This record gives sequence, structure tokens and C-alpha cells, in this order.
Amino acid sequence: MAEKKDYYEVLGVSKTATAEEIKKAYRTLARKYHPDLNKDNPAAADKFKEVSEAYSVLSDETKRSQYDQFGHAAFENGGAGGPGGFGGFGGQGGFGGFEAGGMEDIFDMFFGGQGRRGGARQGGPQRGSDLRYDLDIAFEEAAFGVEKEISIYRDEQCERCHGSGAEPGSKVETCPECHGTGEVRFVQNTMFGQMQSVRPCSRCHGEGKIISSPCHDCHGKGTQKKSKKLKVKIPAGVDNGSRLRVAGEGAAGTKGGAPGDLYVYLNVRAHKFFERSGVDVYCEVPINIVQASLGAEIEIPTLDGKVVMKVPAGTQPSTVLRLKGKGIPSLRSGTRGDQLVRVKVVVPRKLSEKQKQALQQFADICKDNINPEEKGFLNKIKGLFK
Ligand SMILES: [Zn+2]
Ligand SMILES: [Zn+2]
Repeated sequence: MAEKKDYYEVLGVSKTATAEEIKKAYRTLARKYHPDLNKDNPAAADKFKEVSEAYSVLSDETKRSQYDQFGHAAFENGGAGGPGGFGGFGGQGGFGGFEAGGMEDIFDMFFGGQGRRGGARQGGPQRGSDLRYDLDIAFEEAAFGVEKEISIYRDEQCERCHGSGAEPGSKVETCPECHGTGEVRFVQNTMFGQMQSVRPCSRCHGEGKIISSPCHDCHGKGTQKKSKKLKVKIPAGVDNGSRLRVAGEGAAGTKGGAPGDLYVYLNVRAHKFFERSGVDVYCEVPINIVQASLGAEIEIPTLDGKVVMKVPAGTQPSTVLRLKGKGIPSLRSGTRGDQLVRVKVVVPRKLSEKQKQALQQFADICKDNINPEEKGFLNKIKGLFK
């Protein structure tokens, strides 16, 4: 028998390695040499065995200290056994000191927790895929909701065979290989002993049935591409980028599987007057200097038509006035936001002689008090430039 390798060397760790370091080294090596992942490399199985054996000893505190004291002699096979009597690793029942649940642990590592257990049966019912439809709607339609008819091209259940894939009147036989289960169990001899595994039946491709003459329309698929018109209700308050889910209107499933869902992505077209921010609507309205100075009542377009808005006397440029409840309904509560009106005070660019005289007259009346903020401003900058 060849000289046994040092367990620490096998795992590539130092004699003072912590339990965590040992576990980590083992996981890395087990992944590297696992027989299932090295079908073409028989040497890997030996290596895997070596690694597992080393780990079974070094991961156990008692065994590790025995090994540190006596080396391999501590677990010599045969005879009455040394201290601890580890016994051979290979062959039947060789699992000795394998970490409890060790096998599951490994499979979790390799198969993301699904392992050999569970998992959808290949060839069984399959849910149809989800579909995406991009829909343009107008600003007002987003605000108040709308019903739209759309046309989608999708997989639908074949009308001729009703999704079975078999030509009507033809015989569908239960697969003689798997007796309709779609799965075949088989026993594998591994170094851990016999293991039972399941694989999809190769004769019926996991379907459990054999179709002797496939449907002429869908060629056995059970579905057909078709264009379908659909009415979609768009609720009031949706916004650009909103996504609507229409349950069950995606592609048809196969083999009795449920259909997928349809997702309608909304693109709300820009409005020439309104802008939107959440449930509020913004707009800008020009007024003249007389309206700003004396106050006025002006007509403002809203989503509900024109309303008269009061501009108070002495309104400053860029003042934002609020029209309560003239915004967009909240998708959740239905409560409407506000319309915010930004007032743009427009100063006349050209004046007639008469207008100039009138303004000059105004200035004369005011004397040096046309701008009430002027004094404060001059005080503020006093001493700024010496
Ligand atoms: Zn068909
Ligand atoms: Zn079968």
C-alpha cells in the first residue's frame, strides 16, 4: 500500500488551520473533484475520496487531535482498530466520520439547493411566456383613464388539437418505457454505495405519452402563433413608464400549463401646454404689467376645461398660483393633485409715444419711489465698492 499522504497536505492547509479554513479548503477541493463533475476523469474520484477522508478526520476535533498525536496509525484499518477506530473509507458503510448531512451539503453547493430532489419534470406542463406591449397614450388619457384596443401576436392554444399536439382521432399511447410517469429511475453504483437517481424518460422525452400522428396544424406543439385583438383598460392616473399587468393574456402554456401574463408599458405623449410632476400639473401663463400691478381675472386652460383664475394685485414675476384639485388623480386614492400656474410678467418691448408719455407720467407721480425695494437694495450694496 502506498504511503498515505498527510491529511493537512491533502487539503492544502497548515497544521494550525482553523475549522473554518479546513471547511473552506474542503469545499473548494470537493467541488473540483466531485465525480459527477468529472465523468471523464477517473482519477478525480480517487482524489475526491482522499479529500473527503482527510476532511472527515480534520473536521472532527477528537479525531483531529488523535491524528495530530499518532498520525495515520490512529485510524489504521483492521485489527481491533486504533483509538477511535475510524475504519476504511471506501466500500460499504465507509461513511464513518463524514460530516452530518455532508452529502446534502455538497449537492446544495452544486445544484443551488435543488439538488436531485424536486425540480420541474421535463416535458410536463409549462407556463406560457410573459409578453410585453408598448403603448402610446395621450396626456389626458393617462390623467383620466381610457380603454384601448391592442393587437398582439402570440402563441395560442391550437384549435385543431386543443393543445394536445395529437391529430384529432389519432391514438395517444401511454409510454411503455416509463408507464406514463415521464421519468425513469435507475440505480447507480458509486463509491458511496448504490444511489437511486431519476432522469427524464428518453423514449417520450419526459411527456409520458407517445403521439403517433402529430396535429397537422401545429405539428405536435399544441400552440400556434396568432394575432389577437385585446381590450386593455388603463386606469386614471398612470404615468409615463407605468406598467400594467394583464393576467393570463401572455403566450399560451403547453401541455396544460397556465398562460403567461401580458405587460403593457405605457408611454405618455407630451402635452403642448401642461407638464406633469406626480399628480400635479404645471403650466406657464403670460400676464402684462398692468394685470400684475392692478390684479386681474384671467382664463386658464385646465384638464377640465377653462376656469377663471384671480391674479392678485402686485403679483411678482414667476409667482406660482395654485388651482386646487385640477391636477391628476392619484392612481391609488383617486384624489386629484393641483394645477400650478407660473405667472410670467411680460414687459412691453415697444411703446407708442402716447404710452411712453403715460408711463413717464406714472414715474413723475411716484418720484423716486417706483421701485419700493430700491432703497433696501442700495443700502445693501453701500460700501461694497470703495
Ligand atoms: Zn394542434
Ligand atoms: Zn416515457
